[in-house]
Amino acid sequence: MSKRSEASENPIEELKRRNADLEVLYETVRDLSSTLSVERVLQRLLDRTLQHLEAEIGSILLLGDDDQLRVMVSQGLPPDVVERTEMKIGEGISGHVALHGQPLIVEDVEAHPTFRRRNRERYYTATLISAPLVRNGVLLGVININNKSNREPFQPHDLRLLEAIAAHASVALGNARKYEDTLRLSQIDGLTGLANHGHFYKTLEREIERARRYERGLALAMIDIDHFKQYNDRNGHRAGDQALVAVARIIGDRSRTHDVVARYGGEEFAIILPETEIEGAHAFGDKLRTAVEGVSLDGEDPLTVSVGVAAFGMNISATSQLVDAADAELYRAKSLGRNRTCSPGSS
Ligand code: GH3
Ligand code: MG
Ligand code: MG
Repeated sequence: MSKRSEASENPIEELKRRNADLEVLYETVRDLSSTLSVERVLQRLLDRTLQHLEAEIGSILLLGDDDQLRVMVSQGLPPDVVERTEMKIGEGISGHVALHGQPLIVEDVEAHPTFRRRNRERYYTATLISAPLVRNGVLLGVININNKSNREPFQPHDLRLLEAIAAHASVALGNARKYEDTLRLSQIDGLTGLANHGHFYKTLEREIERARRYERGLALAMIDIDHFKQYNDRNGHRAGDQALVAVARIIGDRSRTHDVVARYGGEEFAIILPETEIEGAHAFGDKLRTAVEGVSLDGEDPLTVSVGVAAFGMNISATSQLVDAADAELYRAKSLGRNRTCSPGSS
């Protein structure tokens, strides 16, 4: 029995082992807190746990919105098992652990009265430990570790280590999930605080739809900083970043409430101008151009921008057409010498 083998351990050996366990725990926590993607957190957790418990097979199941447990990462399991495994709470070993919220040690699965039917033909399991992943009292999933390489059964101290790892992993998992949600929901460019590329396209599609349905004006201005590569080369990348923030502020400060100002890409900005015809958009674009031209950034080279403007109309009825048209005008402004605003028909 495992209890006997634990108690018979020499106290020095016991201390050494506990020390080693603490070290494993410390390393795992450090490892987990350095990554923020859910899948990577889980994969690292599993790899490390298998390594330290000297085990062959492992899996982490997460509880989905539909209350089913599904394998998220695994090692040593046949792919079809991974794909097909779906468990309700209370079903099988993982379901049992999920239901009771308590870790479990099964010394011999084949001989176990409740669990022995499962898995037998699919893959060989001799001995296993399993622990719930719980954060703030909420069940996130279950971690299972099967089969020690030396074929010995798991011991209670293995289970205690797994439990401690699971507790820390639950925190890391909770953080990673929050971070992924934030990124998904994020509409903001981190450097400038303007709308990001994704949000720009979503908004433009919505605005095109509105302009079409209600026959309203809609224009788009694309702004690109002139010779910005040289600016970076001369003043350094950090000064370049500050210049981007300064230009973003100039554009943002001069826009109306319903305009959407976005960082389109590196040193390019895009402004969606609802209820605006081409003439008004051209005038607005040129106002921004002169505003940038008039600003000096403490001692650095002066900056200029080129502006391309287009409007929703007869030849332009789709998002991509409007972006392409404004882009073509921007290109024309560059080729005419930069620091200017171009729109269809302008000189
Ligand atoms: P042009 O007048 O034709 O637009 O010339 P350009 O140098 O501005 O254009 P190009 O596309 O050749 O280079 C753009 C440069 O913008 C390259 C890169 O160094 C700089 N850049 C892009 N994104 C960032 C950023 O986030 N920070 C900084 N500092 N520089 C950036
Ligand atoms: Mg550019
Ligand atoms: Mg440029």
